[in-house]
Formats: sequence, C-alpha cells, structure tokens
Amino acid sequence: MLQVITIAQALRSAAVQLKASSSPRLDAEVLLAESLAVSRASLYRESARALDTASVERFQTLIQSRASGKPVPYLTGRAEFWSLEFEINDAVLVPRPETELLVELALEICPPDATHRIAELGTGSGAVAAAIALERPLSYVVAIERSLSAVQLAHRNLHRLGAINAITTVADWLSPFTVEAFDLIVANPPYVAESEREQMDPTLHFEPREALFAGHDGLSALATIIVQAPKCLVRGGHLIVEHGDRQGRRVDKLFRENGFQAISTRCDLAGCERVSLGVRA
Ligand code: GLN
Repeated sequence: MLQVITIAQALRSAAVQLKASSSPRLDAEVLLAESLAVSRASLYRESARALDTASVERFQTLIQSRASGKPVPYLTGRAEFWSLEFEINDAVLVPRPETELLVELALEICPPDATHRIAELGTGSGAVAAAIALERPLSYVVAIERSLSAVQLAHRNLHRLGAINAITTVADWLSPFTVEAFDLIVANPPYVAESEREQMDPTLHFEPREALFAGHDGLSALATIIVQAPKCLVRGGHLIVEHGDRQGRRVDKLFRENGFQAISTRCDLAGCERVSLGVRA
C-alpha cells in the first residue's frame, strides 16, 4: 500500500534534511507552499491533509536543491525587499536586507515634495530603483545595468510594481553619461575581493559572480563609480554607495580624491560599516 504523507509529516522530514540551513523549518514551509501553490498560513490550517504523489515529488526536488545550498529565492523565483515582492532569477543577486540602508539614505536626501533625477547603478532585479521610485513618485529614476538579462528582469519588476517613474537602461556604470544629469546617484556594486572567493559562504556560489566580485581588493567597481560620478552629478548632488564592512576608510579616501565633500559612512543594523556618501563640490 502507498504510504500517505501529510503536510505536517512532509514538513518535519524536510526540516531534518535542511538542518544545515539557518532556517530549516521556514525554508521547508516556503518550499512546500510553493510546491502546492498555496500560502504558508494554509499549511497550518491543513496540516493533516494528505499530499498527492506529484506534490511530494515537486517538494522533494526543491528540498534537494535547497539542501545543496541553493538560496530559497532562486527556487521560488521571488524575494522580498522594502516590503515589495520581486521576481528573481540567476542573472541577479538576491536583494539583501542591509541594502535597505541605501534606500533609507536616498529617501533622506530626496524629500517627497520635490523632483529629483536619480540614477541607480547595477540595478540587478531593480529592487533599489523600485523602492526609491515608489517612495518618491515626483522623482525620476534611471536604473542602469550592464547585464541585458538583469535589465529585462528589472524592467518586469518595475512595470509590475507600477514604478512608472523609473526606466531601465543597459550601460557600463555611468560611461554613456557625459552631462550633469543627476541630483543623486545610488549604487550597490560588486565589492567582494577575489581573494575571499575561497572562504566565502558556499551559498554565494549560486549568485552571479559579476555581481559579487570586484578585483583583488573588491574596490575596482567602487573606484570606477566614484571617479565617474562627479561629471554626471549636479553641483551639490549626492553619491551613495554600498560597500564591504572593512572598506569604509578606503571608500572615504576615494571620495576625497575625487573632490567629494561632507563624506560620511553609515553602519547597517548589524553595526557593520555598509554605506558611504558624499556631496559633489
Ligand atoms: N553583501 C553581499 C555579500 O557579501 C555582497 C553584495 C555586493 O557585492 N554588492 O553577500
């Protein structure tokens, strides 16, 4: 006789398979809800429901991928950022909660009752651009990205979320921009040092390397952006960049060398130096 598996049993056994994850039970619930195309809450309401074979198979495939280290958003195709839901695929980084600091600072600089011209560099899924555009409907956001697959994804996300004041464009950082077009430039570029590749969290191996690594010290993309930004910012315009927790001092130096003023570095909720900003003189 075929063994009947209930929702409660499937979740218990999957959580054991996922013991290497920092959140086995949550991962199992999200992936079972995905396999059954239902909400997580309904798993609790229907915990005694028996699963059909096809659902069990779909769930097992997802659990095996997750057990191999693949991050949940690549399995569900969705991730949350700034309380918004984004479509995600393997062309982009999964948006990180600490990157919300970049959005917070951008919103501090751009009051809601004025119009600002904002560029977001390396937009990936479009998460930062969408958050800013939706919070500042009077402003215009240009979401810039080198990868065409990522631009297509960002475009879908911005469109679905109704961010009509944001557009996407394919470019290598600010290279095509030669006029003082922006009041604010925001970037979460790759900033992990190539030398850290060996020791890094194995789950990062599932993410696009061009979105993570930036030369031997992790500073090559940041340096390019900080050098290019002054010619594209109006006088008094701001540049805000995310960076690694041990890069604050070197990013501050790059800002100074390129004529920025009022430079400061802010920490994320974990107390790590995460974002620096400066004003074009
Ligand atoms: N903060 C990310 C990580 O180390 C890196 C993101 C990035 O390089 N922009 O997981």
